[in-house]
Amino acid sequence: MKLLVTGGAGYIGSVVSAQLLEAGHEVVVLDDLSTGHDDAVPAGARLVRGTLRDSAFEVLDGAGFDAVLHFAAKSLVGESVANPAKYWDGNVGESLALFDAMRRAGVGRIVFSSTAATYGEPESTPILETDPTRPTNPYGASKLAIDTILTEYARLYGFGAVSLRYFNVAGALGPQGERHTVETHLIPNVLKVALGEKDAVSVFGTDYPTEDGTCVRDYVHVVDLGRAHLLALDDTESGAHRIYNLGSGSGYSVNEVVEVCRAVTGHAIPAVYGDRRPGDPAVLVASSEKINAALGWKPERDLTQMVTDAWGFARR
Ligand code: UDP
Repeated sequence: MKLLVTGGAGYIGSVVSAQLLEAGHEVVVLDDLSTGHDDAVPAGARLVRGTLRDSAFEVLDGAGFDAVLHFAAKSLVGESVANPAKYWDGNVGESLALFDAMRRAGVGRIVFSSTAATYGEPESTPILETDPTRPTNPYGASKLAIDTILTEYARLYGFGAVSLRYFNVAGALGPQGERHTVETHLIPNVLKVALGEKDAVSVFGTDYPTEDGTCVRDYVHVVDLGRAHLLALDDTESGAHRIYNLGSGSGYSVNEVVEVCRAVTGHAIPAVYGDRRPGDPAVLVASSEKINAALGWKPERDLTQMVTDAWGFARR
């Protein structure tokens, strides 16, 4: 297939681009490089530098694309609280421009990167796709709005859409890994300590109602996550918008993650225990029964593998 990957210079988009190429697809990446890196785009993919608003139609029109994988987004929760307009415009506005371009160019198949943040604070775990969506920050709200648009566009314009709701993504695929200028995620921050770039890891909160008092999250290897996108592509059906969680059904606490990082790196990795980070739910674990039943997807790589691969990438 000929595929447009928006945000293919970012962490997950670049990994999935590599997997799509490996599977024999033709890949064009559209990325404005606002947070991505041009050298993350795998060899074999063509990079078009531009925003969705300025460039999506030009790229799609008359070029024989079969589908779009839409990763391009602003994704920092804290920044979204400080500057919500950046998220409404950068996520919803830009996505709407992409969907309009797709409509005009006659490309109706799309796989979209949604997020666990659309659910907000869960009432029960593991989280099901039928659970209420009550995002607690503009980032999650903007992603939920895009899901809502896709539901409408499937109904009104015959889009065939699949939204994949990511929980915590970790690991790397060779030269494609997590490289954010502002790094908020746990595993890359812990590994920075092992690399000597930070003195200690800050653990945010020790009084959560969990076994060891630290937050529990559902980590999925980016290679497993990427595999779900290839399955989702084949699952797109005109007129339908399907939503699947991507998690493992079980979680690890912050302390457990730090412990695995110590074991993998052989570094002591000192931890400093501090206050909670505002807005963090105690436990976020996904039920992935739906995607398992529908597409046969289940994660194959454990946390040790995620940390091992992230560590290999961090040391490059
Ligand atoms: N966390 C932490 N120290 C850090 C970064 C994250 O204790 O330097 C915690 C954070 O509070 C959350 C968990 O690790 O409970 C996972 O955070 P991350 O930002 O990686 O993902 P999130 O679950 O927020 O999407």
